[in-house]
Amino acid sequence: MNKEKIFVFQDDIPQDTELGETIAIDTETTGLIHNRDRLCLIQICGRNNICYLIKINIENGILMSKPRNLERLLKDKKVLKIFHYARFDIAVLNNWIGDLAGPIFCTKIASKLVRTYTNKHGLKDLCKELIGIELSKEMQSSDWAQETLSEQQKIYAAQDVIYLHKLYDKLIFMLEREKRTKIATKCFEALEARVLLDLNGWSNEDIFSH
Ligand code: MN
Repeated sequence: MNKEKIFVFQDDIPQDTELGETIAIDTETTGLIHNRDRLCLIQICGRNNICYLIKINIENGILMSKPRNLERLLKDKKVLKIFHYARFDIAVLNNWIGDLAGPIFCTKIASKLVRTYTNKHGLKDLCKELIGIELSKEMQSSDWAQETLSEQQKIYAAQDVIYLHKLYDKLIFMLEREKRTKIATKCFEALEARVLLDLNGWSNEDIFSH
């Protein structure tokens, strides 16, 4: 992981940031509960592997500065957004930044649809099997709200987005091979509904069940 390719910004990306047609996105928060925990960091990365870490300032439940350039990107229908476990990140972004527009690709959902021979669908598992990269997850539970991020945190945060394009390429190929591209597309489109349910009190319910 090349440190020179990581850039840290406060509140937003610069207006002229060139990210291309597909972007990988991840978020870091103070915890996993939507109405309790807050967004601290948004990581984005284009195909050129340059990572932008955007520190988000939320005080007393209020977003202190709107990330207008980032918002524009999230609402751009020409830009494909790649996540790993999109369900969580989209809810976080919806909560703090606003709605985002598709198309969306989730590497976890895609993995579940094509790697039916395993139940290991973590980012670490996908990186290891599909692209031969060993990810360290040791900084996952660290204090993302602290004023200054450590070098280790920056690298960890960047690692969560830097391999998503490579995984996307592999998974697209596997979805085609297994003739599951359509069901994947429908699942990605359904994420909006899934997130709405999560944010409105139906997070533990299968609304389609009897
Ligand atoms: Mn992450």
